[in-house]
Amino acid sequence: MTAESVLNVARPDVERAELLVWLKDTLRAEYGERGLDSRREPMHELISTILSQRTTHADEEAAYQELRELGDWDAIIAAPTEQVAHAIRRSQYPESKAPRIQQTLVALRDSPGGYSLEFLRDMPVKDALKFLTDLPGVGIKTASLVLLFNYARPVFPVDTHVHRVTTRVGAIPKMGEQAAHRALLKLLPADPPFLYELHVNLLRHGQRVCSWTAPKCGVCVLRERCDAYATYGGKVPSWKA
Ligand code: SF4
Repeated sequence: MTAESVLNVARPDVERAELLVWLKDTLRAEYGERGLDSRREPMHELISTILSQRTTHADEEAAYQELRELGDWDAIIAAPTEQVAHAIRRSQYPESKAPRIQQTLVALRDSPGGYSLEFLRDMPVKDALKFLTDLPGVGIKTASLVLLFNYARPVFPVDTHVHRVTTRVGAIPKMGEQAAHRALLKLLPADPPFLYELHVNLLRHGQRVCSWTAPKCGVCVLRERCDAYATYGGKVPSWKA
């Protein structure tokens, strides 16, 4: 067992929840208030998030645009899978993503709502998460992004940056990304604007300061309450998910 893996294990939940509120307020002071508005249509968000896995934002957008040039969703289902893979080649692992995207589109086409995801707006959160994660290629992070960003539902997407920063600071003990979704959601208020702002500011902080390797603790606004910094000082080890 590494020293990192035993950080914060004994911290009570009430303390973790308070730390998350402090994180949100501190990051707001640093990066500003972020209003909850959906950046893309729900179907765009859903398919793009599948494309985004291990892919830069620019490549994800390029892959999505070229995918849509194949036609409407029915046309993408009907296209040869190799043609779909070619269209999304700017995304990583196009050969495995192409059939998953086609299978997801088939499942949506055959569902009561078709390609409209509007019914997710009023469905109980648990059922909405289940509907989305039952789709091929859709995991808890993608489902949470669609529900929070597009329908302002109280869920919390945990990407690699959110996972790394919340763990290093000590809001949750070291665990996998899937488990971190459940652990963080249990500690956070069911308040979509709060959840959205915390998500986007943690992501920004992870990209700019609390990087995977050699985090910039010397300029970090979270340093005074960061368990990793308290434990390792200026030598916080590289992140191992
Ligand atoms: S003090 Fe260092 S390890 Fe802690 S959150 Fe800031 S950059 Fe990350």
